[in-house]
Amino acid sequence: MKFKITKTFNKLIIYDFDDTLVSTNAKIKIIKKNGEILELNSSEYSNYTHQADDEIDFSDFRQSKLVEPKITELFDKKFINDMLDDEADVAILTARPSIEQLVEFFYVILPELGYNFTKDELRRINFISIGKDAHTGEIAAKKKKEWINQQIFKYGYDSVTFYDDSEQNIKFVDELKDEWSNIDIKTVKIDA
Ligand SMILES: [Mg+2]
Repeated sequence: MKFKITKTFNKLIIYDFDDTLVSTNAKIKIIKKNGEILELNSSEYSNYTHQADDEIDFSDFRQSKLVEPKITELFDKKFINDMLDDEADVAILTARPSIEQLVEFFYVILPELGYNFTKDELRRINFISIGKDAHTGEIAAKKKKEWINQQIFKYGYDSVTFYDDSEQNIKFVDELKDEWSNIDIKTVKIDA
């Protein structure tokens, strides 16, 4: 778990990880009371309505290796530029319980895929997890909003851009536009 950002610029660009920068075959397993098991990817899961006696298994999201990671178009077309541009603080804000798999992805898997960033370039990324438990749905959305709110409050960013594939996360972060009307806040919904 990591909450702190290294503040350098007045502009903050935040990316979600799963299905925004990278899609994986990690599945959330829902074990129903009658024994039926549903396997949902993270975007299917964000639209799933919970039943009280569902048992939920996030183990795919806890193992140290990502499950068959694929890089999204946004990663190639936007994220890399933002990371190399040196004009904004760049953060990856994940609802995963740990940043371990993200760090492993950038430092170990990316070079295997032919992306050769220097350590200094990679050090520009702030890896942030919103908590030690796997947060989902509205709780995750609220926690992302709250984290962004704190960064604006603490560091006085005058421009914030947020990329996420979850409608709900976008909706909650959009609320900050009213709360910080003097700040340029932009949210971008990514199609997973
Ligand atoms: Mg996502």
